[in-house]
Amino acid sequence: MPKEKTSPVYEIFFSYQGEGLYTGQPQIFVRFAGCNLNCNYCDTVYSKVVSKRAKYLTVEEIINKIYFLYLKNKQIFETLNIKKPTVSITGGEPLIYVGFLEKLFHSLKNKGFDIYLETNGTLTKNLKKVIKFCDIVSMDFKFASECAKSFWKEHKEFLNIAKNKVFVKCVITKNTKLQEIIKSADIIKSISIKIPLILQPSIDKNVAEIQSLYNLYTQAKKIIPNVYLMIQMHKVYKMR
Ligand code: SF4
Repeated sequence: MPKEKTSPVYEIFFSYQGEGLYTGQPQIFVRFAGCNLNCNYCDTVYSKVVSKRAKYLTVEEIINKIYFLYLKNKQIFETLNIKKPTVSITGGEPLIYVGFLEKLFHSLKNKGFDIYLETNGTLTKNLKKVIKFCDIVSMDFKFASECAKSFWKEHKEFLNIAKNKVFVKCVITKNTKLQEIIKSADIIKSISIKIPLILQPSIDKNVAEIQSLYNLYTQAKKIIPNVYLMIQMHKVYKMR
């Protein structure tokens, strides 16, 4: 099978969203292999690279697996009156496979799924190609303090493209600088003050002091109204 017709995927599974604004929502997750960044706090280290563990799957194979998981968990979606189950597209960085995503997203929409894209917010041109298919974009801001460099220009352009569908997530560690959070809030304000900002403390590496978290929250809140301090639920409950 030619590689262009497939993409490397580590796992497809049902779970509950464990972070961000949609925490608690049942979703079907598709984790792509490979990433364009190398963050110190990465909690899916294996997904940074395409290893032998990754399976090269076609759009049809991915859709079949999603549909199988949907049928298996149909009652959960129905109990919550969810007419369009959400598929979380995650990684690694899924946007590196944008050509493949265009086909996958087209097919997912035809089958009646909502699309939740988890991304590091750096591949602006690629986002442009698939934004029309996305219902929710969960975008990270990456900082020099943990990810080798900052991406302010890319993040601003990215936000501008995704602005009605996006929320921003910043992982906070003891190395996060106040200026990084202030600049994040300023960029959000320059696009739309309605865009939510989630400050997500790392709980397993370089954990920040609680006073520092409150200070970052307070300073961001002075600039934009929708700021939240939220940890990752799936880590506390040891879920996928
Ligand atoms: S962008 Fe995400 S997947 Fe890639 S290295 Fe950073 S935390 Fe890990």
